Amino acid sequence: MATKAVKKKAASKSKTALKKKAAPKKAAKKKAAKKKTAVKKNAVKKKAAKKTAPKKVAPKKTAPKKTTPKKSVSKQLLDEDGPANVSWEQERGKPGTVSIRMYCIGTGDCFVIKFFDREGSPFNIVIDCGCCMGDPDWFLPYVKDLRKYIGNTVDLLVVTHEHQDHVNGFQKCGDLFERMVIKTAWFAWTEHPDDPGGEAAELLKKRTAMKAALGSAMQEIEKQEPAIQQAIADSAFAFELKAAREAFLNGMNSLAEINLEATTETGGKPLAGMKRIKDILSDKKTRVKYLNPGSSISVDGLAGVKFHVLGPPKNRDLIFKEGKQGTDVFRKNMALNESALAARAFSRFSNPTDKPDLPFTDEYVVDDRVTGPNTKSKYTGANDNWRRIDSEWLMSAGSLALRLTSHINNTSLALAIECEANGKVILMPGDAEYGSWESWHLIQSWNKKGRNQKHLVEDLLNRTVFYKVGHHLSYNGTALEKGINMMPESNMVAMATLDRNRISKGWKSTMPNKHLLAELIRKTGGRFFIMDETEVDGAPSLTLDPGTLDEAVYKAKRRDDDLAALYKQYTFEFGHVAP
Ligand SMILES: [Zn+2]
Repeated sequence: MATKAVKKKAASKSKTALKKKAAPKKAAKKKAAKKKTAVKKNAVKKKAAKKTAPKKVAPKKTAPKKTTPKKSVSKQLLDEDGPANVSWEQERGKPGTVSIRMYCIGTGDCFVIKFFDREGSPFNIVIDCGCCMGDPDWFLPYVKDLRKYIGNTVDLLVVTHEHQDHVNGFQKCGDLFERMVIKTAWFAWTEHPDDPGGEAAELLKKRTAMKAALGSAMQEIEKQEPAIQQAIADSAFAFELKAAREAFLNGMNSLAEINLEATTETGGKPLAGMKRIKDILSDKKTRVKYLNPGSSISVDGLAGVKFHVLGPPKNRDLIFKEGKQGTDVFRKNMALNESALAARAFSRFSNPTDKPDLPFTDEYVVDDRVTGPNTKSKYTGANDNWRRIDSEWLMSAGSLALRLTSHINNTSLALAIECEANGKVILMPGDAEYGSWESWHLIQSWNKKGRNQKHLVEDLLNRTVFYKVGHHLSYNGTALEKGINMMPESNMVAMATLDRNRISKGWKSTMPNKHLLAELIRKTGGRFFIMDETEVDGAPSLTLDPGTLDEAVYKAKRRDDDLAALYKQYTFEFGHVAP
């Protein structure tokens, strides 16, 4: 907690420092025209230098370097970075192709999709910028590279949903986003400030209350920790209880981390990253749109491409709906570990008739048949005082944290990007969970709008050539029958934003889901890029001929200051314009 406070201070310091130094901005603006030519020349030089063969990506074996919080990013930023609000020359690409770059920022999304037009000029879409872990200095190389790569110009910014692993980069490197040209921005209808239908405000109210409650619960957990520790130490089953307790705390911490600004933040306030990017867009007078499911839209400057808005659903039941394992979603990873014990330990306090309030779904609860005799009795014995201490509120805390997380994931702006000429589809669902996937198929106006009288969503899924895997390869981020089973058997490429070196402990048992992982490897024929697969059992490049997954297939670059990857990038023929 203390480190976080220090980090926060450092971040705000850097902001002040930058603001002071950025004062002669107007003068810089006047010079911008002159500088532009200089920058262009520079860009050409750099391009030439970059022509050298890309570094071979060796599997990473060492643990990631622990980044100690540094005072500020602003000095580096001012030394090396170009001025604000100018467009720099960008590398051209083959007309009609698309490059999708996944920044390997840690478990969290930050994508650039470049569409090359008839002249080979790019149209840049930036989708999200976030990762739960890392101080501003960790983010800096990624966002600096992004800024260079897009020539300081975001043609379309898409912010999918308000989770730290999707938005905190906007805060941590806000100074850089402030300097970019951002032409248009899209958010989901749930973020609409005027809320014409009145549905967004209602959801926001609920979300705010849940966030506030989660913050209070986290404080309560901290407060009661000594008493619980003591009770566990005195128990005959101290070892198991400790493991269960630890797993539960890991789970709670990881859920609090993505939902709250600080784990003890109790105000239910919006995340700083979300607020910052909205402020930046408002300062820039960027054209902002809030999208509704069922709309299909074109964008100025991007010919031959249509965007279909799949989610978030308008129906709040679907926003909160969970999928049934085995049919709606894949089965969870086998739960015979501490997390399962944690579920067992805490679920007994639930009212059995009130299933949605279980801290983990009931399938996840381990019973005697699975873990062997007497497991259950270990959790129902006379020495269970520690659980009695915190049963009521702790029970609801687990349930609340999970429901809040799913709720926000299901507010993800989910897009299918279609090539009008040939029907190829790029699927970018954010972190949409099952309820959202199901809702796409229920969009009335799309009935029979697909080929062969199909619903448009089924048809779009059938034609998917690129899939950004939902929710970091977890079991509920990809629908089964209404999702991956409708995607083609081959010719598909997938990318997943999972790096087990940079993820909270609490997520490790669910990410990756091994069934989904195996199915995606099969469906893509190995053309499946995980942000960092070194800690992934049955990783795509190990199971398959490396030839299907090496740099002949995709481009990768490493950070200069670290062994970690900077990005992975895949380019393919989309055909939105004739070459
Ligand atoms: Zn996420």
